[in-house]
Amino acid sequence: MTPYDSSAAPTPAARQPLVDGFGRTVTYLRVSVTDRCDLRCVYCMAEHMTFLPKAEVLTLEELDRVSSAFIGLGVRKLRLTGGEPLVRKGFMSLVESLSRHLRSGALDELTLTTNGTQLARFAGDLARHGVRRINVSLDTLKPALFRTLTRGGDVAAVIAGIDAAQAAGIAVKINAVALRDDNAAEIPALIQWAHGRGLDMTLIETMPLGEVEADRTDQFLSLTEVRRALASYWTLTDLPLNTGGPARYVRVEETGGRLGFITPLSHNFCEACNRVRLTCTGTLHTCLGREDASDLRAVLRAGADEARLVEAIRLAVDAKPQGHDFQITRDAAPATRRHMSTTGG
Ligand code: SAM
Ligand code: SF4
Repeated sequence: MTPYDSSAAPTPAARQPLVDGFGRTVTYLRVSVTDRCDLRCVYCMAEHMTFLPKAEVLTLEELDRVSSAFIGLGVRKLRLTGGEPLVRKGFMSLVESLSRHLRSGALDELTLTTNGTQLARFAGDLARHGVRRINVSLDTLKPALFRTLTRGGDVAAVIAGIDAAQAAGIAVKINAVALRDDNAAEIPALIQWAHGRGLDMTLIETMPLGEVEADRTDQFLSLTEVRRALASYWTLTDLPLNTGGPARYVRVEETGGRLGFITPLSHNFCEACNRVRLTCTGTLHTCLGREDASDLRAVLRAGADEARLVEAIRLAVDAKPQGHDFQITRDAAPATRRHMSTTGG
């Protein structure tokens, strides 16, 4: 893939930062590069998913072009996600192409969220293209439970992937979804395992996104509850890290590692939100928990020039909602019909 030609000088409009209607500056873009995945996590996907026809998914060139437009507008951090980003054909050429923004200094960080199954193969290339940190999702170390939760996955492949990433010099953060029935009792062991390997760890509350077979109300585990339990035997020291997102961090003094809590349902984090999300079909969502959507693919495929693309992005960001309205109650419909695999986690 040849890098998208961004040699044309940015227009004056393109030089102004992206500020929404509530004065928040958008500096963080998450891009889902595919809705496909080699796993079927029970809280994320239905067992039998219908994936999108190829024509609906942005090409690698289109993904590069939109991402680069955002970077031109002041986005400093770009996270590639999915579905599973490493199963997208040609994914590494997109990473290679986007890495030019790291070299130019326009971008501070190019990163990805992955399930880790393909990492052993790709970690070296990621490191070579300037990826310094990644998030790997891992909810359990138990092979049988991992197989059940992911509907068929092999936890050994993920651990081999984490090994390869660390060997390549990439910092790994483990993301685990807290599930009342499945991994609640294992959470302390998972934290000890991660911290013992020098990995940060973040716990995530289940979010009501997309219809899946499992009843999320039964699996929902409040991280306030988890934190209280951990604090009964560990010393948790608040850290002033602020990512502009829903994560709050502590240091576990006994393990020496960092632990994050992503609690979109327990706490309101919207006032500091600095991020927007692009789906693999080119729809821009400015809020994870709302149905707001702007179709950038239509703009791209109508042959828009740079100024028109920038205008479409600005219009979308200007309308970013003030906050979300997630709730998990017994009969509540999902807050949005989108699956996390479409929006990108
Ligand atoms: N396939 C990659 C992975 O699993 O890391 C990237 C995409 S995945 C959708 C991103 C993150 O979203 C994962 O950490 C996953 O556990 C999380 N996730 C998926 N569905 C979720 C849900 N309903 N609630 C909370 N987190 C969810
Ligand atoms: Fe795939 Fe990630 Fe969703 Fe699991 S959470 S099904 S790995 S996209």
